[in-house]
Amino acid sequence: MTPPKEQYVVVLDPGHGGYNPGNGMYNMGAIGLNGIYESEVVLDISLKVADILRSNGVTVQLTRTREKDKSNPYDLEDRLRLAENFKPNFLLSIHANSFTSSTANGVETYWRTSQSKWFATTVHNAYLKQVQLRDRGVKQDTTLFILKGQSYPSAMIEVGFITNPEDYALLSTPEGRTKAAQGIAKGILQFMGIDVKPLDH
Ligand SMILES: [Zn+2]
Repeated sequence: MTPPKEQYVVVLDPGHGGYNPGNGMYNMGAIGLNGIYESEVVLDISLKVADILRSNGVTVQLTRTREKDKSNPYDLEDRLRLAENFKPNFLLSIHANSFTSSTANGVETYWRTSQSKWFATTVHNAYLKQVQLRDRGVKQDTTLFILKGQSYPSAMIEVGFITNPEDYALLSTPEGRTKAAQGIAKGILQFMGIDVKPLDH
């Protein structure tokens, strides 16, 4: 059953950021240029996506809303359980890429189970159109734990390489992150069939 659009629940999962009680450390994800943390980049973008979706009448839940918060989920099982407790109609996990060579760049989006392919494609294309980074494609990955759910579309977007100067330029500034968030939000709203208010002003 499809609920009225105002009742859609979008769960955003800003990657990493969990506290590991085992070693007393936070999982900051990849480390990019100038020591930037993936966890910090994707949290900021996710919070901006949440704002845009909410201003379009969509209910949004996040698996975490802060950096260095001990209540942030660490185990992926805990994270998925938390996400599914929100009864998502859609789930998007937001990550940033890294590589040993700074030449690797661009955007890739993953889906796991078949009900998610078009959702992943829609978000990917809207994001790329907005940010104009290199297109690395939309790919299936049947090992991504957070995308296990089969009763709702889900995807993981890798918003760019924080180890690449061009991608970093977008992902490290407030303006760039706003632009990134607008692209992601547009994709989600388009997929839900919601008329997208102009976001660029
Ligand atoms: Zn990641």
